[in-house]
Amino acid sequence: MTNTSRDIDATLIDTASAVPADAAARADVAVAAPEAKRTNLFDLERVQLEDFFEQVLGEKRYRAHQVMKWIHHRYVTEFDQMTDLGKALRAKLEQHAHVHAPSVVFDKASEDGTHKWLLGMDPKNAIETVYIPDKGRGTLCVSSQVGCALNCQFCSTATQGFNRNLSTAEIIGQVWVAARHLGNVPHQQRKLTNVVMMGMGEPLANFDNVVRAMSIMRDDLGYGLANKRVTLSTAGMVPMIDKLGEVSDVSLAVSLHAPNDDLRSELVPLNKKYGIEELVESCVRYALRKAGTSVTFEYTLMKGVNDQPAHARELVRLMKAFDRAVQMKGAAKINLIPFNPFPGTRFERPTDQAIRAFQKLLNDSGMIAPVRRTRGDDIDAACGQLKGQVMDRTRRNAEFRKQVAQRERGDAAA
Ligand code: SAH
Repeated sequence: MTNTSRDIDATLIDTASAVPADAAARADVAVAAPEAKRTNLFDLERVQLEDFFEQVLGEKRYRAHQVMKWIHHRYVTEFDQMTDLGKALRAKLEQHAHVHAPSVVFDKASEDGTHKWLLGMDPKNAIETVYIPDKGRGTLCVSSQVGCALNCQFCSTATQGFNRNLSTAEIIGQVWVAARHLGNVPHQQRKLTNVVMMGMGEPLANFDNVVRAMSIMRDDLGYGLANKRVTLSTAGMVPMIDKLGEVSDVSLAVSLHAPNDDLRSELVPLNKKYGIEELVESCVRYALRKAGTSVTFEYTLMKGVNDQPAHARELVRLMKAFDRAVQMKGAAKINLIPFNPFPGTRFERPTDQAIRAFQKLLNDSGMIAPVRRTRGDDIDAACGQLKGQVMDRTRRNAEFRKQVAQRERGDAAA
């Protein structure tokens, strides 16, 4: 059982921070606990907020619904502006809770309409969130961790190292900041129709917080997104894919990038722990939970690395085996992502011609394999280009810099 159950996570609701009843009774004016001691309501999904109202505030559960609408539909974070709540309740909320969003360090618009935010999560760490508008839809790419610990060789986030997981509040706070900026009104003025957990970090390594945040995204009192329109992308944490299948019904995307273990282990070191066969089997189980479920396999194309005809043929075999196991043609969806370069990387994007040739081989075998259009690359907001401010707790960042310096010295000497 996870924290998404009806149990309130004790660390989130710190009843010890409450002003003792006798003191509160004596005080004419409510005394608010220090910020850190108060519960950030962004941390709570609907059932937890209802519990909070009932158990901590001694109020009716439905009051939680009013507050959710103020926060997620009207972007109001000050209790005294929540005018359909009585004065006494507002004072009580002030005492025990706050609504604290991440701070916008800067934001930047791309020529193609893509918008990127650098959001401060604490004084030393910041992450990136990207909005990508398209015909009839708007997708937000959300981060789950400050940095990433997985060290995928072709990803810019990996070069920054890792600091920590984001809290539920810090994850849903990204959606809130973007939705407010866009003037999104759930069910009426839909600017935000899809969320992809494809920003910085490995979402399944931060399971409880990510699942809870995704529940707020899909809640009608939250952002009202359809299950299918919330996508979690993972580098392949097999046991967690099964766990996700037990608690949530979102779309699953898996970062495959190579059709065999030798190559995949080089590109995605996690593959040494969970190989392709095991990974694909867990995806089959995920798809079989519910008829008609497909899984997206992401394949970042890198020049001379994984873009050869032999790779395409091997990929087709793997995907066809998946379709057979799920007993549905087209259950495996391939998403081709041309590599997006970043400073210091040793990888390159294949030519457009090579990308088309790879795609054609897949198409000729009956596979649908759209090439993801590069968006926002003029503001470094494309896939794999996200880079926040990470106080690295690993030695990754220092190692990466050393490697780049060595390569540059080698180039200069040559
Ligand atoms: N950790 C998760 C989610 C973050 S990455 C995962 O691995 O799925 C989102 C997608 O962008 C992944 O498929 C990732 O492999 C891909 N990606 C990373 N770096 C990239 C780059 N430089 N160019 C293109 N795609 C990249």
